[in-house]
Amino acid sequence: MKSNGSGFLGRLSHRFGRDIGIDLGTANTLVHVGGRGVMLREPSVIAINKDTGEVMAVGEEAKRMLGRTPGHIVATRPLRDGVIADFEQTERMLAYFIGKVSGRFLLRKTVVVGIPSGVTEVERRAVLQAAKKAGATQAFVIEEPMAAAFGAGLPVDEPSGSMIVDIGGGTTEVAVISLGGIVHSRSIRVAGDELDEAITSYVRRAYNLFIGEKTAETAKIQIGSAYQLEQELEMTIKGRDLVSGLPRSAVLTSEEVRMAIQEPLSAIVEAVKLTLEATPPELAADAMDYGIVLAGGGALLRGIDKLIANETKMPVLIAKDPLSCVAIGTGMVVEAMHENPLIRKMLEKSSRP
Ligand code: ADP
Ligand code: MG
Repeated sequence: MKSNGSGFLGRLSHRFGRDIGIDLGTANTLVHVGGRGVMLREPSVIAINKDTGEVMAVGEEAKRMLGRTPGHIVATRPLRDGVIADFEQTERMLAYFIGKVSGRFLLRKTVVVGIPSGVTEVERRAVLQAAKKAGATQAFVIEEPMAAAFGAGLPVDEPSGSMIVDIGGGTTEVAVISLGGIVHSRSIRVAGDELDEAITSYVRRAYNLFIGEKTAETAKIQIGSAYQLEQELEMTIKGRDLVSGLPRSAVLTSEEVRMAIQEPLSAIVEAVKLTLEATPPELAADAMDYGIVLAGGGALLRGIDKLIANETKMPVLIAKDPLSCVAIGTGMVVEAMHENPLIRKMLEKSSRP
């Protein structure tokens, strides 16, 4: 008998952790296990021993190695710019994460992976293949903005337009969704990483100080903002003096950080505006009623909602758990697939081998 995952067994399957939803993000990978919720949340980083090809570390442990490895070990982010830059390492990372949540369960698994909407055909197939290699009986992909919309609780299957802006590490995805499909979308390679880089180069110019990626990200999270703050903030950053070559610290203010990240922020706002302009008027009007929904780690930047609202003259709201939206959405979709033929069809369509 051929099992198609529907019916009684299908409905029961999520209780045994057979349904797995994965947010394969450029910065973080999250794994949602049916009936249990988000079970894994780790940076999309893998460290390899160049000499032996052996995997040294994956996730959190590998992220700590970024920029700190001896010559023969390389820690990389295989999805860094939103494209799958390194198929092999992406595959190994995915297999590791799936294995980690599966433990000793050898039950047949259905896996749905959220992928950036801009990926190529080859990349899409690589993800499907990776999921199968990692033990999935059946594997599907879903475009991340679609999964984010499900996860944020937007009325995606109604004939009404919703707009979602997902600001991740490597890419920002803007999409208008109606009747379970993406009507219009735009993906740009400007997101959290670019904000970090803008901070790094500002500090280099203004203070002659070279700071690491991690320090720039910390500054963004602790004192970064897209809009004037009621109470401006400051923090001490440490780096290497470009003239003396010695470690030195400096005090950075939130006004400076805001100025430093202005350019990449404008690019994000521009992508939202262009998407709105290209959206059929009826759907744009619907989005106006509901508001633009922000997801992804970038949605947590102070005042980003205010900035986008001001620039577009649209109401803007932040999804309840912006960092988990996509993972929760993939989990919802993989579960619903067993009972809802429309969702099953949608997945099958986007996952043809
Ligand atoms: P991806 O989906 O590409 O993996 P995420 O949605 O996980 O990305 O978001 C990661 C990005 O969000 C990183 O650039 C990170 O620095 C940024 N980020 C996380 N928390 C915050 C915060 N509180 N303020 C600003 N940016 C944040
Ligand atoms: Mg994401």
